[in-house]
Amino acid sequence: MRRTERYARPASLGEALALKAADPAAAWLAGGTFLLAGDARDKPESLIDLGAFLPRGLSAAGAALAIGAGTSFQELADSRAAPALLRRAALGMANRNVRNRATVGGNLGANRSCSSLIPSLLVLGAELELAEGGPPAAAGLESWLAGPRGLVLSLRIPAEAGRRSACGRWARTACDLSVLSAAVSYRLSAGAMRDLRIALGGLGPRARRFPELEALFEGRPLPSREDMEARIAPLLRPIDDLRGSAEFKRFRAAALAAELLRAAAGQEADA
Ligand SMILES: Cc1cc2nc3c(=O)[nH]c(=O)nc-3n(C[C@H](O)[C@H](O)[C@H](O)COP(=O)(O)OP(=O)(O)OC[C@H]3O[C@@H](n4cnc5c(N)ncnc54)[C@H](O)[C@@H]3O)c2cc1C
Repeated sequence: MRRTERYARPASLGEALALKAADPAAAWLAGGTFLLAGDARDKPESLIDLGAFLPRGLSAAGAALAIGAGTSFQELADSRAAPALLRRAALGMANRNVRNRATVGGNLGANRSCSSLIPSLLVLGAELELAEGGPPAAAGLESWLAGPRGLVLSLRIPAEAGRRSACGRWARTACDLSVLSAAVSYRLSAGAMRDLRIALGGLGPRARRFPELEALFEGRPLPSREDMEARIAPLLRPIDDLRGSAEFKRFRAAALAAELLRAAAGQEADA
């Protein structure tokens, strides 16, 4: 098994980028709950610890909310500034010891299909602030997930008044990794769902929005749960893996998405 040979803890972003330029194979280290987990897994030969300089915490950024990439899951769950959807999604990681270490940036960097946070960030329309060598630049979350690059410094959540949202997961036990994770968000206008967003994880290599499902219900009154399940299931093409067969995931993901679309209607709209 490969072990880590070199470790650096730069004091500034500039120093971190210079270290990375000198050693491109070095891995960014945040909480280490993904990168360093598992006694039998290879570890990166060289680590650049982000802990001394990466932004941490939540703050207003004009009309948007900025979330430092170094914010831990527990800080997100405890923050009154965080949207209720993100607080609930952070608590989807059931193990508090891991929540204390695991960061938002590390969750994006791990880019796991079963991520607790990514579906909710997608339906909130999150954007990223990235450092790639030059001045920090903005990137859309979904396009970044399809081709991760650079260092995530922070996320921006736009203020979108009137949205109702819900998130959920399906796992074998509370502390297990999710088989499926999901989030939905829409505005209710004259009884119809508008600007509908549906994001699902666990069905393919990474979590993503499902425009094909959004188009089924956009601008329509909320159907019954049974109707929605029956219309969603045929459009899903899940992968088979150790966590569940394609057939099971299609059945369970359709039920989860329909449950969340109904549950969001009962949530208070964002101010
Ligand atoms: C027992 C256990 C339970 C878990 N349960 C869950 C769960 O319920 N839900 C869930 O989503 N995950 C879960 N995980 C996985 C892991 O905890 C999360 O993915 C976590 O968010 C990783 O964050 P971290 O700060 O520890 O990242 P690290 O392990 O430090 O890094 C993860 C990856 O991201 C890269 N990275 C780190 N920071 C940045 C950055 N700012 N910009 C770009 N790349 C970066 C690293 O180089 C690495 O490739 C669990 C892990 C364990 C061990």
